[in-house]
Amino acid sequence: MSALPHCPKCDSEYTYFDGTMLVCPECAHEWSQNEETEVAEDEAVIKDSNGNVLQDGDTVTVIKDLKIKGSSLVVKVGTKVKNIRLVDGDHDIDCKIDGIGAMQLKSEFVKKV
Ligand SMILES: [Zn+2]
Repeated sequence: MSALPHCPKCDSEYTYFDGTMLVCPECAHEWSQNEETEVAEDEAVIKDSNGNVLQDGDTVTVIKDLKIKGSSLVVKVGTKVKNIRLVDGDHDIDCKIDGIGAMQLKSEFVKKV
């Protein structure tokens, strides 16, 4: 009837598809059909202020003046930031800004160019 794979745990053929997961009614095992590929791609999607997905190497502009902690420097609104690198954390963009140097930004304060 269907081409669903057998349960990897008990080899039951009565598996069914439950939206996103495969389910085995005999041993209650649940798994994702694309498990192998999806686990490798386990990365959070980081979006700019407009909801566009950002990627390493993107160029963005700053949408508000950002004071740099511990200094009197300010990253002015409209500053272009090239070649960003996405990182984990509260500040999720690693970058280098002309005249300022390496720093981290929050994706909510930039927009993709
Ligand atoms: Zn099973």
